[in-house]
Amino acid sequence: MQDSYVHKGKRKILIDYLRDKMGIADEKVLAAINQVPRHLFLESVFEDFAYEDRAFPILAKQTISHPSTVAEQTALLEIKEKDKVLEIGTGCGYQTAVLIALNAWVYTIERQKGLHDFSLNKLRELNFRPKFQSFGDGFLGLPTYAPFDKILVTCGAEVLPTQLLHQLKVGGKMVIPLGKTDEQILMRFTKKSEREFEREEFGAYKFVPMLNNTNH
Ligand code: SAH
Repeated sequence: MQDSYVHKGKRKILIDYLRDKMGIADEKVLAAINQVPRHLFLESVFEDFAYEDRAFPILAKQTISHPSTVAEQTALLEIKEKDKVLEIGTGCGYQTAVLIALNAWVYTIERQKGLHDFSLNKLRELNFRPKFQSFGDGFLGLPTYAPFDKILVTCGAEVLPTQLLHQLKVGGKMVIPLGKTDEQILMRFTKKSEREFEREEFGAYKFVPMLNNTNH
């Protein structure tokens, strides 16, 4: 598969849809989504549908998020160039690539070995370069590389992973879907001081669960 003018055209239509129908107003986020060939992260059977606002199965019974969810989560992070961003749940690497397209310095963790290996190869092949890609348990974050300007959790957590909040800079933001397995509320925590956080809610979503430990 390659990135042809047909894919580019479909991507343009998706961007217009995200802006006009889904209310994504951050043009930098839309431009980043426009830079990433989503179809190349999917199995070839889904190629024709890659630019519809749909989630698809990836390896290890996980899913690539809807483009509108990726856009919303990314916009909520308010990423600036060279922000140090920790992503929990690399998955196929699509969201990672969108963050890199925004010129963030991306550190990402995946607990499924198959997906860790897949995303490592895919991002390299497409020349999206994270600062560090880890196979591990995202509940622990990456203390060696902390603190981070932004933290993005792409799986649904039943309880708030407080260790991650510790790894956030004062002034930093964490975006995380929080709640039971059947539905989560998308939340944004802004670290006001070492002990104070502002908490905002952004509606209901359904993410794959955030699980402990790793899976080979
Ligand atoms: N951003 C991804 C979305 C993948 S779905 C993409 O664009 O494809 C969420 C991912 O979170 C899954 O791959 C799942 O294995 C991973 N995950 C769940 N719990 C985790 C944890 N504790 N640490 C790291 N990754 C985790």
